[in-house]
Amino acid sequence: MTNFNPRSKDHPLIKSGSMSSLYKEVVKCESCPRIVDFRKKVALEKRKQFMDWTYWGRPIPGYGDPKASLLLVGLAPAAHGGNRTARVFTGDKSADFLIKCLFKEGLANQPNSDSLNDGLKFNNIFMTTVLKCVPPKDKPTAEELSNCSHYFSREMEMLKNVKVILALGKIGFDGCLRYFKKDFDFKMKDFLFGHDKHYVLPNGKTLWGSYHPSPRNVNTGRMNEDMMRSLLKKIKRNID
Ligand code: SF4
Repeated sequence: MTNFNPRSKDHPLIKSGSMSSLYKEVVKCESCPRIVDFRKKVALEKRKQFMDWTYWGRPIPGYGDPKASLLLVGLAPAAHGGNRTARVFTGDKSADFLIKCLFKEGLANQPNSDSLNDGLKFNNIFMTTVLKCVPPKDKPTAEELSNCSHYFSREMEMLKNVKVILALGKIGFDGCLRYFKKDFDFKMKDFLFGHDKHYVLPNGKTLWGSYHPSPRNVNTGRMNEDMMRSLLKKIKRNID
């Protein structure tokens, strides 16, 4: 089973538009040997319940509305989620939690995110990750984050209407700060990550932090639906 053409060299979501040339470049990237080995290994070995899938197993660009006011930034595609389905926050437990919350707050047209062909549409959202491939144990090295940062930066340059950024997890939060540090002089330690903490940046954009909606956080009660929906309500007011 697959929802993309496995022989195509292009990402199935990027057919035209301002981001197409960047994404044609991203999906061919092999700059991080450790990560490239891992993403291919996962795609070959697969998880038992997905044995009939052809995994994407390549870098994954962001998706959503390039004119959006709200940007969601995660760490990286999930091994058996995005790395399988070719779309971030698609086909894994974190996606189930996050998209359900977005739907309940009127920010997505449906509560599920399963595959490229599931009909999911966002309302005024673009979603991406600071790292475009899945790293082993979800722990990228500093060098890998640095290697990939220029793709994130170029994506940010193209998202002209973003007013609010919601970083899902500390690595996404810090990745956003590092991007803004190129233009503004501030100390990273003055922007402490925390769930529901937010900062107005020197360019007027607001950066919010959220615990990552991973099963580890949800199953331990560190994150729950009320917490995420309450945060999304505040962010919606922030955009308006
Ligand atoms: S993580 Fe980024 S820089 Fe490294 S191989 Fe993937 S796309 Fe390339």
